[in-house]
Amino acid sequence: MTTYSHPVMACPNCGVKLDAATDVIAEGPPAPGDLSICIDCMSLLVYDWENTIRLMTDDELALLALNYPQIFRLLCDAQNAIAAVKADGKQPQAVQN
Ligand SMILES: [Zn+2]
Repeated sequence: MTTYSHPVMACPNCGVKLDAATDVIAEGPPAPGDLSICIDCMSLLVYDWENTIRLMTDDELALLALNYPQIFRLLCDAQNAIAAVKADGKQPQAVQN
């Protein structure tokens, strides 16, 4: 896994400042259309054009689960991993290069 810095973007759900993303499937730095998870509130996010990030819509999530079940499972596993770290009273950290 590689962590890539990117311009600071606020999570549209919780407002936490996001300045990096960890690539878990070796596809490179985040690009428009790539999916992510807020490390603070665990919202499902989509990188958009113009260095912005938005919440994944319910329709997008349904299509993802239907058409890309492995990616859907990966996101669920990542959310569960973040929740487990937070349940231990720790703050999840980005993976360092
Ligand atoms: Zn958030």
